[in-house]
Amino acid sequence: MLEARGVQVSIGGTPILAGANLTVRRGQLVALVGPNGAGKSTLARAVAGLQKTCGGSICWQGVDVRRLRGRRLARLRAFVPQRSRVPDGVRVRDAVMIGRSPHIGPFRGASRSDHEAVARAMARTGVGDLAGRLLNTLSGGEFQRVQIAVALAQEAPALLADEPTAHLDLGASAAAAVLLRRLADDGLAVLLVVHDLALAAAVADQVVVIDHGRTVAEGDAEAVLDRGRLAAVWDVDAQLETRDGRTALHVEWLP
Ligand code: ADP
Ligand code: MG
Repeated sequence: MLEARGVQVSIGGTPILAGANLTVRRGQLVALVGPNGAGKSTLARAVAGLQKTCGGSICWQGVDVRRLRGRRLARLRAFVPQRSRVPDGVRVRDAVMIGRSPHIGPFRGASRSDHEAVARAMARTGVGDLAGRLLNTLSGGEFQRVQIAVALAQEAPALLADEPTAHLDLGASAAAAVLLRRLADDGLAVLLVVHDLALAAAVADQVVVIDHGRTVAEGDAEAVLDRGRLAAVWDVDAQLETRDGRTALHVEWLP
């Protein structure tokens, strides 16, 4: 679905990405991890077609992202940004309808199939009961699920979510992680940018590690997040453990 190789991005003359790789297939959940400032959001924005690149290649179903614009891009991928402004006076069902905009022609209102897609997206994310609520009255977890509903209403085969679990409590993070895992199981290509390594290891098919703007590892969580790499990239003495379907990160907090 998505193949990015050797991606380079410079902002204001400063190199931000200097060789980032990422592959996401249909039905796969890929976790993009790395320390703060490593370039995760920049890479997510670049593959989404929202950030200009100066090297490397990004292809969606074999088509260079630079050739994809507007509706064509919107029908391939939905993007849930890390920080999104919460507008005043907007209700949940109207926000989710915004996800339909690539399907609604100019000078045309929402059709029955648009309303059905909105209802499906709200049901899938469990926000149906919130349909009439104003966005700025939602809890963090509720708002994040609404953001995913907006993306699902777009009905694109790929979903890119940048830190959807940041600022969520443990239960809400787990709920969001389960939702994304199920969406991948249903056939979507899902990219999850996340800094919680235990969560990444628990739900991802593949983990991509980015450090200082470069992809330094791609593969199974156990292979990629070994003790040596946790020390090299995160400067921490830690070990990942998966047992009986539970994943834990054992950290030496006070060496
Ligand atoms: P991450 O998401 O991994 O925390 P980002 O992709 O947000 O990292 O940022 C990577 C680096 O690029 C950081 O050092 C950040 O300060 C810098 N950066 C990101 N966006 C901009 C920008 N618009 N202008 C200048 N520097 C930026
Ligand atoms: Mg980020």
